[in-house]
Amino acid sequence: MESGGASPMPRTATPLKNGKRKICVYCGSSPGTKPEHMEAARQLARVMAANDIGLVYGGGTVGLMGEIARTLVSLAGPAAVHGIIPEPLVKYERDPTYTSSGTSSAAPSANGTTTELAIPEEAVFGKTTIVPDMHTRKKMMAQEVQAGAPGSGFIALPGGFGTMEELLEICTWNQLGIQRSGICVLNVNGFYDGLMNWIQKSIDEGFIRPGNMEILASAATPEEAVKLLAAYKTPDSVLKLKWGNE
Ligand code: AMP
Repeated sequence: MESGGASPMPRTATPLKNGKRKICVYCGSSPGTKPEHMEAARQLARVMAANDIGLVYGGGTVGLMGEIARTLVSLAGPAAVHGIIPEPLVKYERDPTYTSSGTSSAAPSANGTTTELAIPEEAVFGKTTIVPDMHTRKKMMAQEVQAGAPGSGFIALPGGFGTMEELLEICTWNQLGIQRSGICVLNVNGFYDGLMNWIQKSIDEGFIRPGNMEILASAATPEEAVKLLAAYKTPDSVLKLKWGNE
């Protein structure tokens, strides 16, 4: 595990590519109550391994986050996974007893205080970078995708507030033109139908430009999600801001 901060985002929208596709996956720190959610995380990892795609994710070892990282490392080795986690979250999201739907953060010790849990091996969850805060994490994750080969992008599996916040933030970065990779929800059993309906309603009622519907794709399977990212073209309707200049 290493500690690190983010270097500035490249000022151009077309940074140097490093040859390997990278997908940043946003997903729940909880496993969900339906087995298909964890299975979707495993399936996505299998498709990424089959296509030699690297994973960038939030660095947790719990819930869907831990499942996709563990599965991809088991198939493609630790170098295929890079987790980026804010230091304050280490004690929660690398704790096997934690779920965001409400359990303890760390095991209570005999004297009532909490105990530090060991950081799992890189051999199980891949490389982990600890950063000071959430903003640094998000920026680093986006930078890594931007530096990836064509077809790199962002996929959201089911999740809660954290997943939704990260997903919608990256959509707004596309809308502003400060990042240009594709974004797709993996709509496991219609999990994201409500979000897609809201986007359509926002277009119908004049809050989102019609062309910007294309910023967020929806896929029924991991294979389709990976294909949609590869086919993504920035819609003309987005703004053309340059990262770091505004
Ligand atoms: P959740 O979907 O709520 O289980 O969260 C999934 C991930 O989103 C976790 O790693 C959270 O740390 C992360 N996350 C990103 N932004 C936020 C935020 N503003 N508040 C809470 N969690 C966040």
